Amino acid sequence: MTAERNSRQRPRTCVACKEESPKRALIRVVRSPGGGVVVDERGKLPGRGAYLCANRDCLAKARKTRALSRALKTEIPDELYERLEEYVDTYGETHGEVDVRELRALLGLSRRADLLYIGIDSVKSQYVKEPLLILTAADASDSVKDAVRKQVDGGGNIHVYAPLEGKVLSAAIGAANVQVVALPARNGLADKIKMLLS
Ligand SMILES: [Zn+2]
Repeated sequence: MTAERNSRQRPRTCVACKEESPKRALIRVVRSPGGGVVVDERGKLPGRGAYLCANRDCLAKARKTRALSRALKTEIPDELYERLEEYVDTYGETHGEVDVRELRALLGLSRRADLLYIGIDSVKSQYVKEPLLILTAADASDSVKDAVRKQVDGGGNIHVYAPLEGKVLSAAIGAANVQVVALPARNGLADKIKMLLS
């Protein structure tokens, strides 16, 4: 594993909710060396950076508490918050590093193949029986995240944050209000999803 890969996988902290997530699940905002503040769509721009979860709650909180402004040590113009709102809403579609269309297709296939456990209760009931690949939505609630964290502690389960909001995850599998799904870890579709997200 190269150093670059390690740094890409190191979790980053959202300035609003203080939760750690993989870099790819977060939006990076940068105060560039020239002084402007921009959304760093590819996560590679130079300058002082701050991370935000790709959801409206964290964005609203960052604005209200001025957490983003403090992290970047500069005023954030209203236009940037408006730009961020648009960006958050389309994040699942436009995210650069993961092929989100492919991920949605694989999740849809898993559902049609009847491999998918949907929702935390269904995941919990299954995880004792076989190792699972568990995917949580980028904007999953704290209680779901905590519950998943407990499941992952044993039994060879693998957990990843999907770079998808719950509504996008729900649409991909044709169910309502989904925050977490899992499928058997020893499975070709699980392997493809793992590869896509690694
Ligand atoms: Zn957050």
